[in-house]
Amino acid sequence: MLIGVIKETKEFEHRVALSPDAVKLLKKKEFEVIIESGAGQSSYFSDQDYLDAGAKVGSPSEVFQADLLLKVNLFTPEEIAQMKDKSACISFMYAYQHPQIIEALNAKSITSISMDAVPRISRAQKMDALSSQANLAGYKAVLLGANHLGKIFPLMMTASGTITPAKVLIFGAGVAGLQAIATAKRLGAIVECTDVRPETKEQVESLGGRFLTVEGAEGVKVEGGYAKEVSAEYLEKQQQLIRDKIKDADLVITTALVMGKKSPILVTEEMVKSMKTGSVIVDMAVESGGNCALSEKNKTVVKHGVTLVGESNLPSLLPVNASNLYATNITTLLLHLANPLGLNLDMEEEITKGVVITHEGQLVHPFTKSILQ
Ligand code: NAD
Repeated sequence: MLIGVIKETKEFEHRVALSPDAVKLLKKKEFEVIIESGAGQSSYFSDQDYLDAGAKVGSPSEVFQADLLLKVNLFTPEEIAQMKDKSACISFMYAYQHPQIIEALNAKSITSISMDAVPRISRAQKMDALSSQANLAGYKAVLLGANHLGKIFPLMMTASGTITPAKVLIFGAGVAGLQAIATAKRLGAIVECTDVRPETKEQVESLGGRFLTVEGAEGVKVEGGYAKEVSAEYLEKQQQLIRDKIKDADLVITTALVMGKKSPILVTEEMVKSMKTGSVIVDMAVESGGNCALSEKNKTVVKHGVTLVGESNLPSLLPVNASNLYATNITTLLLHLANPLGLNLDMEEEITKGVVITHEGQLVHPFTKSILQ
């Protein structure tokens, strides 16, 4: 089976789907690998590194001859047009948001496999690219926020006076939020965090953060580990809590996502106005609509004296780690689904059923189907 990796074309994308180490592993398992020349450059992997690992390096048209193509971002219509009929591909897809891409893949009977659909179960942890990338993003969000602040994080007692620690407020204690707490704590800030899932309280506290409980939090539904939309009553109570807390915060990091839905607006314009001049908001949910009403995708803007950071691709700012971890995730999934002779799909098995979106000209993924049909 020939595995191909093409260069990412999305703006500001520095990652690549396979690292030289991942190529070595695939070669050991008797797969053939071809990488587009220059595909690893932005992650500091040279063509020679891939050649040394045992891959071929070729032109885009040579790579599109592969049986299975790997990418970080969703394949574009132009790329799908160049793919072989009945071939296969793996990337982040967010398939329920891209019906036209699904149609284009189906029209060529391409088996498409989505990294964002890997079930959040222990057995699939090594394939979980959402977590590997969110973890890096949480770290980078704190550093970006710190850079935009006109003050330091830790308590510092000096001959010239005492500097009080910065206050960091975090919304959402998923993978990104927990890493943001850990990073802000390591830098010496006072950290508070709220989440709709009450079970996150213990995780926040174990990292040295203070958990902010919204009264009436019972009844928040969790499905497959993901939070469902909360009630209007909960949101109102949560808004009151945020109104009280946000006035004192130096840095706010928002990570609240709801699977398959637009992100909830947690920080309104009125709340931004109430914040201290010079404070910063890093909106990590900006790609799915944003948690702050004023943040702008891929822009850093100042509104009402508050700096709003809307960087939508934080993992790409750490391409070496992000590509290495993504390559481990995608290779582990690939080895679960294929052998050197081709794909070997057991559509009753939990991980396979979770990740395969289109197969043999059919939209086979239940969640995507329920949204698109
Ligand atoms: P996510 O990115 O989908 O959401 C981020 C956080 O935002 C979540 O903690 C969510 O509860 C929170 N949130 C949603 N709406 C909110 C609101 N209105 N206000 C405040 N917070 C809000 O989450 P994730 O990091 O991808 O993790 C999703 C789940 O999967 C978690 O339960 C996590 O523990 C679990 N998980 C399991 C595994 C595994 O077992 N292999 C791996 C990774 C994650």
